[in-house]
Amino acid sequence: MYRFLIIFLMLSLSCGEHKPEPTMEIQKNKKVVIAHRGASGYLPEHTLPAKAMAYAMGADYLEQDIVLSRDNVPIVIHDIHLEMVTDVAKKFPKKKRIDGRFYVIDFIFEELKQLNVSERFDPVNDKAVFPNRFPVFTATFKLHSLQEEIEFIQGLNKSTGKNIGIYPEIKEPEFHRKEGKDISKIVLKALNEYGYKTKKDNCILQCFDAKELKRVRHEFKSELFMVQLMEFKSDEKLEEIATYADGIGPWIPQIIKGKDKNGKWQITSLVANAHKLNLKVHAYTFRADQLGDFDSFEDLLQVALYEANVDGIFTDFPDKAVAFIDKKE
Ligand code: CA
Repeated sequence: MYRFLIIFLMLSLSCGEHKPEPTMEIQKNKKVVIAHRGASGYLPEHTLPAKAMAYAMGADYLEQDIVLSRDNVPIVIHDIHLEMVTDVAKKFPKKKRIDGRFYVIDFIFEELKQLNVSERFDPVNDKAVFPNRFPVFTATFKLHSLQEEIEFIQGLNKSTGKNIGIYPEIKEPEFHRKEGKDISKIVLKALNEYGYKTKKDNCILQCFDAKELKRVRHEFKSELFMVQLMEFKSDEKLEEIATYADGIGPWIPQIIKGKDKNGKWQITSLVANAHKLNLKVHAYTFRADQLGDFDSFEDLLQVALYEANVDGIFTDFPDKAVAFIDKKE
């Protein structure tokens, strides 16, 4: 018995010394498809049906945006507000703050569960933000917690034999702090409980707030793979980011400038500079129904993935991205 204990202790110690390498998916140089809020081009964002669809479409990662409820449940929702994607204004009219908005953080989980989720709309006129997507307030969709989504994805990983990753984003840590909450602490605890602890585990943690991501690395000593999201006009220094993060998440215009005189797309130096520092680049957001000056979605994918050479993309249309990459590789 004593001998076993010694062996066990030795094993634990040697594991502790081992510096974890990123998961196979990130290590392999295959382009990575991140389902942005699920297959949000087809079903209301961040609903479990949208996640199931993205999973079935072959995405490598499913994204979770996370905001806390009043009773500290991490909720999978993009905004700190509720009125763009739920019927909160009808169900809880008195919970509106003086700024006219409904905050996730003012509701306990049980109340949030009573809301119906809709395709994103403008609360002023109830019009869909993306007119060609799933109709507004049709069928029944619900909000869910981070834990519920992890169980959903891990359950699918078991039943399909695949290993699809999660890609959680800590939303607005400064706002949460002002409301008296430490969102990072709560999110990290949930990830830890479900086995997401190191770069080997199929999880990428993202945040726009550099101070917070540094805090996650240094104060919480997280060993997760971390991506620093970059604002539209970011002045973050890549050298600085490389001291605490493993990748960056730039906006498309930060990697692709306009066309030159000959009609050729101009690439910025961001991706090459990031690669020199061993940072992966996952760019956002690729939408087949929001092409800007690109002729087609395939044209946009081609320039971003194979000319700008990003390592992965956040997309509302994971099926189209997977099909394009499969054809190329
Ligand atoms: Ca996000």
